[in-house]
Formats: sequence, structure tokens, C-alpha cells
Amino acid sequence: MGLFEDVVVNAKSAVTVVGKKAGQIVDISKLRISAAELNGEINKRYEALGRVVYDAHKTEDSAEELIQECVSAIDELYEQLDAVNEQISALRRRTVCKVCGEQNPQGASYCCKCGTKLEQSVRGE
Ligand SMILES: [Zn+2]
Repeated sequence: MGLFEDVVVNAKSAVTVVGKKAGQIVDISKLRISAAELNGEINKRYEALGRVVYDAHKTEDSAEELIQECVSAIDELYEQLDAVNEQISALRRRTVCKVCGEQNPQGASYCCKCGTKLEQSVRGE
């Protein structure tokens, strides 16, 4: 089972790396990349989980602990994905200043950076 334990350990370090990145991003396109990366990580974790279950079935070992770790890692990634998606929708609700590009809070009448009067439109793609 050594191989699968390695997979799980690697999974955990990947979770931390993606999580750190996501916390610093305020750009929608970067957030989208981050969400795509998280989806990729989730799929990898599902694959690892499948291997663990397959291996356990073949060898009649109990893989309860490893399965639990994979499930926790997947849950954690889904939580991060939710957080990234929330950040994306929060940014999309912001009003972008046409003059300086500042992202102002929803409902702001004037740009908080340059003072330009803002049009109340939702940021497009
Ligand atoms: Zn501005």
C-alpha cells in the first residue's frame, strides 16, 4: 500500500499550494484558472480513491483509513472550489471604473480610486 500512501501525501501538499494561491487572487481570469486546477486536483483524487478501493478489493486488505483520507482531501478541495467560485461571483457583482479599472463595491456611485461617476452595470466576461 506504500504507493497509495504516497499519492495521499502528495494530494495533501497540492491542496495547500492551491489554497494559498486562491487566497491571494483578485482577478477573475486567474480565479477561473484556479477553479480549473482545483477541478483537476479533485479528479486526480477520485482516481487515487478508485485505485485504493481497487487495490484493497484485490488484496482483501482493509483500506478504510486511506479511503477516509482521500475522501477528506476531496472534501477539502470542494470547499476551496466553493470559496473560489464565491470570489468569482463577488468580483462579478462589482462595478468596474471605466477610467482607472478599479473594482468598486456593488452599488457605489463614484469610483473609490479616481472619483469618476460610475455606471451601474455588472461586469461582463
Ligand atoms: Zn476610477
